[in-house]
Amino acid sequence: MFSLLADKLDNTFRRLRGLGKISEKNIADALRDIRLALLEADVEFGVAREFIGRVKERAMGQEVLKSIKPGEQIVKIFRDEIAALLGGDAVGLDLTDPARIMVVGLNGAGKTTTSAKLALRLKNEGRRPLLVACDLVRPAAVDQLATLAEQIGVPVYKPAPGSRDVVAVAREALEWARTQNGTVMIFDTAGRQEVDEALIDELRQLHAFLSPRETLLVADAATGQQAVNVAQTFDRAVNVTGIVLTKLDGDARGGAALSMRSVTGKPIKFSGEGEKLDQFGPFVPGRMADRILG
Ligand code: GDP
Repeated sequence: MFSLLADKLDNTFRRLRGLGKISEKNIADALRDIRLALLEADVEFGVAREFIGRVKERAMGQEVLKSIKPGEQIVKIFRDEIAALLGGDAVGLDLTDPARIMVVGLNGAGKTTTSAKLALRLKNEGRRPLLVACDLVRPAAVDQLATLAEQIGVPVYKPAPGSRDVVAVAREALEWARTQNGTVMIFDTAGRQEVDEALIDELRQLHAFLSPRETLLVADAATGQQAVNVAQTFDRAVNVTGIVLTKLDGDARGGAALSMRSVTGKPIKFSGEGEKLDQFGPFVPGRMADRILG
C-alpha cells in the first residue's frame, strides 16, 4: 500500500531537500505536486485540499523559511499532518462489561477474518472472547467462522441451519454465553455486495438489541473512494465506533485509507495486513505516515 504515493512524494521531497534556500514559490510548487500525488492516490478531493491548506499554512511560516534546513522542516510538517489526518494517537477499544463488539461491512471486506483476528488478539491479551456467527445470508459464513474459531481455540455460537431472524439468534447467543465464561463477545454480521435497505434494517435491529460497546466497520482499503461512502452509510445506520482497514498489504493506491478518518470522523482502530490470523494489529497513524515517507 502507498507505494505509488511514496514514490511520487520521494521525488518532491528530494527536490525540496536539495534546495539551500527555499522561496515561497518553491513551496507552492512542492505543494502542487503533493496535491496531485494525493489525488492520484485516490484521496478524496476535499480531504486533499484541506490537507494541503494545513501544510501550506505551517510551511509558509518564517521559522521554516529562515531555518537552516527548510526542506527537512517541510517534510516533517508533512509527516505530522499525515499522522494527524490518519487520526493522531491510536485509539483502543471500549471493553467495559458487557463487552460486545459488532463487526459490520460489505461482503468480501474481511468481516469474518477480522472477527477471528480480533478474537485471537483479545485472547492473547488474556481476555476470554466468544464468537457469534450472525451472518445468516451467506451460506458458508457460519462454517467459515466456526473453522477459524476452532483454529484459534475460541468458542463460537453457530445458529441452527435455516435461522432467519438475526435478533433471535443474538438472543440465543447471549443465553449460550452465560454458560461459556467469556469476557467479550464478537458478533460477525451479514454483508452485501453493496449497501441495501434490507441489510441496513437488519443491522439496525441487531444493533438496537445488542447495544454494543463497539461497532467496527471493516473496510477494504483497496476499494478506493467507494469505501468512504460505504462507511458513511453504515455509520448513519449503526453508529460506527471504529474502522478496521483490511488488505493494507495489497498494492492499492491507499487513498481510501487516507480519506477515511477525515470524511467519517471515526478512528481507524485496527488494520489487517494479510490473510493470516496474526496479520492484524492496532492502527498506528504515525507508523503509517512513516511508511508513506518511505
Ligand atoms: P467477509 O465477506 O467480509 O466476511 O470477508 P472475509 O473475511 O471472508 O474475507 C474475504 C477475503 O479477504 C478472504 O479471502 C480473506 O482471507 C481476505 N482478507 C481478509 N483480510 C485480509 C487482509 O488484511 N489482507 C489480505 N491480503 N486478505 C485479507
